[in-house]
Amino acid sequence: MAFVKQLPILVAGGGIAGVAAALAAAVSGREALVFERAGAFEEVGAGLQIGPNAVKALQRIGAWSEVAAIATAPPAIILRDAMSGRTVRRVQLAGAFEAMFGAPYRVAHRAHLHGALLAAAAEHPSITIRGGSAVQDISEDVDGVSLTLQDGTSHSGDVLIAADGMRSGIRQKLWPGSASVFAGQIIYRALTDMPATLADGDCVNLWMGRGFHCVHYPVGKEHRLNIVLVAHDGQLTDEIIEQCCAGLQDILAGAGKWLPWEARHVPPLSSWVKGRVALLGDSAHGTVPYFAQGSAMALEDAALLADLLRDAGTLPVNFAHLNKRMPRVATVHQASVRQGQIYSAKGPMAAARNLVLRMMPDQQFLSRLAWIYKNG
Ligand SMILES: Cc1cc2nc3c(=O)[nH]c(=O)nc-3n(C[C@H](O)[C@H](O)[C@H](O)COP(=O)(O)OP(=O)(O)OC[C@H]3O[C@@H](n4cnc5c(N)ncnc54)[C@H](O)[C@@H]3O)c2cc1C
Repeated sequence: MAFVKQLPILVAGGGIAGVAAALAAAVSGREALVFERAGAFEEVGAGLQIGPNAVKALQRIGAWSEVAAIATAPPAIILRDAMSGRTVRRVQLAGAFEAMFGAPYRVAHRAHLHGALLAAAAEHPSITIRGGSAVQDISEDVDGVSLTLQDGTSHSGDVLIAADGMRSGIRQKLWPGSASVFAGQIIYRALTDMPATLADGDCVNLWMGRGFHCVHYPVGKEHRLNIVLVAHDGQLTDEIIEQCCAGLQDILAGAGKWLPWEARHVPPLSSWVKGRVALLGDSAHGTVPYFAQGSAMALEDAALLADLLRDAGTLPVNFAHLNKRMPRVATVHQASVRQGQIYSAKGPMAAARNLVLRMMPDQQFLSRLAWIYKNG
């Protein structure tokens, strides 16, 4: 369906997807009104990896310079066996990697990335972001779409971007039966001081264990250590920790307070658009984070939204083109599930994995990542 350019673009949810959508509107000459449930943007969440495709999406919505200022540049990604502690593969992130994918690889605290997007949004008078504004209901007619907030006030717009996250109320209202599903794993997150003796602590370290995997990397100016442990069979137990090599045991022992998180995904939908409402980010396609691509997909959604709005000019915009991203996002979902299985493999599967990862020539290893990092 096509819509006439006159009213503002409404955005429900002011997370990474919501602010990115507002930036997409602003760089295309449109006004955006963002309604965020939370009263204040807090330092929630932990680290995020920002692959080259996410960097390119940030450039397209005009937010890369703000993000570059807060992001950390890890020199390498190191894949290790969690039991033996041996390095299985080391992937250098400057040089050939950056040249091949056309953008750098970065990491950041989620709140710092969000803050950078908000800083970019503050540069646009056409963006208004309202905290403490929970969207309660939405309605649509031939002239536009309206939302009602919990305080009873209503706001009208041309279209509505539902960027209200994995548990999106708007998705569940318009797509009945689309509640997110528990994927079976528990994700434990911690943020701690960088241990003084940690070798390669400035890198993205991925430890592959039996039934679990662990990722850590530095975030922020203080280079705090963001640690994520995924228990693929359920809980984080003493048994998991005891089977790790001494180096990983030390890191886990120093993690302090773990925050458990259920891994979830949104069931595949046949369209992300219904009338004047489009889902964007996790509300459309939230998935398990083992490929580190959730925010990246939200940013790519927003970059496409910017293109659609810009290409439309003064003509009506064809919102349904957002669905063109469905095959790519479905592939990311499959890759996320598969990466989790590979990283947590046991017995002969783990031995075969290590062998393949160790023996694969660099060029072949990088070529296998081109579909995700080169495109967007
Ligand atoms: C452990 C872990 C590690 C991850 N690592 C990576 C990574 O390395 N790289 C990567 O790219 N991604 C990663 N992700 C995924 C990434 O965090 C998410 O994909 C991304 O944050 C989704 O952003 P979003 O804005 O769509 O959703 P959210 O961040 O959930 O934002 C939704 C917003 O909507 C608001 N909201 C909800 N309901 C309403 C309402 N009714 N009215 C108004 N506002 C509302 C919420 O308050 C919230 O602010 C990871 C995720 C996890 C759990």
